[in-house]
Amino acid sequence: MSLTFIRRPPGLQFGGVAVRQLADRAGSTPFFAYDRSAIDARIQEVRNLLPCGISLHYSIKANPMPAVVHYLAARVDGFDVASAQEMALALDAGANPAAIGFAGPGKSHDDLRRAVACGVNVHVESETQLRLVTALGWELGVQPSVAIRVNPDFQVGHSGMRMGGGAAPFGVDVDQVPALLHELQAREVALAGFHIFWGSQCLHAATVIEAQRHSVELVLRLASGLTKPPRFVNLGGGFGIPYFPGETPLDIKAVCEAMHDWLPQLYERLPGITPILELGRYLVGEAGIYVCRVIDHKISRGKTFVITDGGLHHHLAASGNFGQILRRNFPVVIGNRPDGATRKRCHVVGCLCTPLDRLADDIELPEVHIGDFVVVKQSGAYGRSASPLHFLSHPEPVEILV
Ligand SMILES: *Cc1c(COP(=O)(O)O)cnc(C)c1O
Repeated sequence: MSLTFIRRPPGLQFGGVAVRQLADRAGSTPFFAYDRSAIDARIQEVRNLLPCGISLHYSIKANPMPAVVHYLAARVDGFDVASAQEMALALDAGANPAAIGFAGPGKSHDDLRRAVACGVNVHVESETQLRLVTALGWELGVQPSVAIRVNPDFQVGHSGMRMGGGAAPFGVDVDQVPALLHELQAREVALAGFHIFWGSQCLHAATVIEAQRHSVELVLRLASGLTKPPRFVNLGGGFGIPYFPGETPLDIKAVCEAMHDWLPQLYERLPGITPILELGRYLVGEAGIYVCRVIDHKISRGKTFVITDGGLHHHLAASGNFGQILRRNFPVVIGNRPDGATRKRCHVVGCLCTPLDRLADDIELPEVHIGDFVVVKQSGAYGRSASPLHFLSHPEPVEILV
């Protein structure tokens, strides 16, 4: 008797590996896979377009998988962290503490103590934080590195998630910044930098350009009374990626070209300053997929439901964020048969007992069989770590970096 190996068509390739093989490597479905070559290519693209002298930071909350953070540590100039755990991840990956910015409206005493002890830049977002940090500097016998996160007084349109221009728990209102600068001076702590975060997930180049211009103007205004220029200004990021049908990629070339309009003035007025761009999803979002398996299908009142072993507990964003927004489909394909000929309309759902657990509504897919792989693209950011993993107590998804 001889063994016959059946050569199956490879189907969708991701990071040079067939989805079927990724599943074997992950050991089980569902899983997230991230493609290091795609992350690298994206960083090269950004670096080639950015005017020299601008620092590129990665915002860890977009994807905190330790292997991803480690991979990025050798490729970006610094990290932005929003918790002590994210700070530890960045430090474990070998990041220079002076190139880590710690922002967040609710940093605890212990978080701040760790940040000061590690020499990380603390982006203070209130007078309380400022006082605590300077007091901790005395207690620990180290000069704390303090930046001020500013709640900008401008608002820009077209941004997916708008911030700034109104009341916010993030940062310090522009009109309160002078009092904080005064307080820093009284405590003999030099200001390390300003941090201005104006929004997220923006696909409109003109909006990003406008926000950056406003941010630079704001920083020049705020820094005008300082005796010594700050070391850095974090201008936020906001670069979006297309998730839904009809969305077009951000024209990053136009964004980077427009930086030349304000850079000379920034360098002239604040000699030695380093502008920082903090990007999260733009660096990793398109370099990730979420893969689950079809475990059943059925017809209800004429509609076909494809039921998977995945769902909103792993990928809240693809499901539509608990129904809070008008739901649109992330790009979904059948990994082992992406180009199957007989296409049919169906609804792809997860395994949770809630009507909100949907991965694709009324989508046209090749005829789906039990055991097929459902692949959700654009899943490299705000996937696993931004999902309610324990909701309904199913197993957690594996993550692999290929
Ligand atoms: C979340 C966050 C980012 C990253 O946002 P993306 O949309 O993933 O690029 C950057 N800066 C701050 C302050 C953030 O809170």
